Amino acid sequence: MKRSELFIKTRREAPADEESKNAQLLIRAGFIHKDAAGVYALLPLGLKVVENIKKVIRDEVNNAGGNELLMTSLQRKELWQHTDRWDDKKVDIWFKSRLQSGQEVGLAWSHEEPITDMMREFIASYRDLPAYVYQFQTKLRNELRAKSGIMRAREFIMKDLYSYSRTEEEHQKFYEAMKEIYLRIFDQVGLGDSTFETMAAGGPFTGSSFSHEFQTVTENGEDTIYLDRDRKKAINEEIYTEELAKNSGFDPGRMEKVQASEVGNIFSFGNHKSEQLGLFFSEEDGSQKPVVLGSYGIGVTRLMGVITEHFADEKGLAWPQSVAPFKVYLASVGEEEQVRRAAGNLYDQLTDKGVAVLYDDRDARPGEKFADADLMGIPYRVVVSAKSLEAGGSELKKRTATDIIIVDDNQLAESLTSSLHE
Ligand code: ATP
Ligand code: MG
Repeated sequence: MKRSELFIKTRREAPADEESKNAQLLIRAGFIHKDAAGVYALLPLGLKVVENIKKVIRDEVNNAGGNELLMTSLQRKELWQHTDRWDDKKVDIWFKSRLQSGQEVGLAWSHEEPITDMMREFIASYRDLPAYVYQFQTKLRNELRAKSGIMRAREFIMKDLYSYSRTEEEHQKFYEAMKEIYLRIFDQVGLGDSTFETMAAGGPFTGSSFSHEFQTVTENGEDTIYLDRDRKKAINEEIYTEELAKNSGFDPGRMEKVQASEVGNIFSFGNHKSEQLGLFFSEEDGSQKPVVLGSYGIGVTRLMGVITEHFADEKGLAWPQSVAPFKVYLASVGEEEQVRRAAGNLYDQLTDKGVAVLYDDRDARPGEKFADADLMGIPYRVVVSAKSLEAGGSELKKRTATDIIIVDDNQLAESLTSSLHE
């Protein structure tokens, strides 16, 4: 893509009303637009990052048997009354509205109820199980505080997956497999070393006394966890006691208390919700049994915020390649015809080879182009100038390194395509 055709405006200063580091940077770099507190639009580059994160998740989840679908944002009140989650005293983040008839509807903050209700039409016998469905959907939550940018928004994108199993054992097997898959996902987006499986509250409505969160250690995280770095596991402060730590195989003396952000959360619901909503199946012997339910969330846009804060430096964003909106920022420097032509050729060549290039073809000062390349956090910067052409090609620099090397076109294409999956 050519910079002159890209819908973007970068800026030096973040808006004064934005406190969070992630939103300040993402707004400055032209990735998101703030519409209101906790309400952010995704601009073209921000959307690309989200799509890249979704791709990582989608590939892993499809592999595990997930079927992607898309549920609705308008939800029926009766359904949530059945499970006692309609009342604002029970769920304090509901957005609610009314049909013209006066009938109340809810705006989706989660989907366990509607998706489980829908399953009554699809699951009748043991032959219909297991079933794994998931979606990427916009969730609406009337959060009291919205000071963490896209890490806590009132409108955000979540991946939510639901598992329907025949037996508790079948459920547990999938639940454990999802833990591995989650760790692989967080690893692929660059957070492998800082994201930990964390014991958290299960609550009276779940089938188990714990749920598992995936917490990324980050100074602006809203959660506090007790972390054992050797075991790579943690306990959320909300449930932490020394006794629980010991009983769970931890040495409380070695646990570190750190700030973290919950990027994912998995729950076992046992039979509870199926019984409430009437989701039963007939076993081989004809008996009726409740389906065993699990739910598995990842905060896609929160994850983008956490990645932003994790990798950013004083110059701006610095995306891992797996999620970067482009792999290469190509800049021509100087007005000479020969420079323009060489940069244009390089752009065509790399694009043909499948490398995602953003070509800064503007009449702008070199310093401005370099600052933008850094601010946007594109993993590689390639510069074509009269000087580089004289030296035999173009200048190649990694966003996170300081050394610059001169490469000819073939070397460049080779190093950029060989590190495609880095
Ligand atoms: P939190 O405790 O942070 O409020 P939650 O436990 O209510 O989150 P879940 O219902 O488990 O969240 O949702 C699944 C995932 O969605 C969370 O793990 C988190 O990554 C993400 N998420 C939840 N609330 C928000 C929000 N307001 N903005 C952005 N992402 C969110
Ligand atoms: Mg949670």
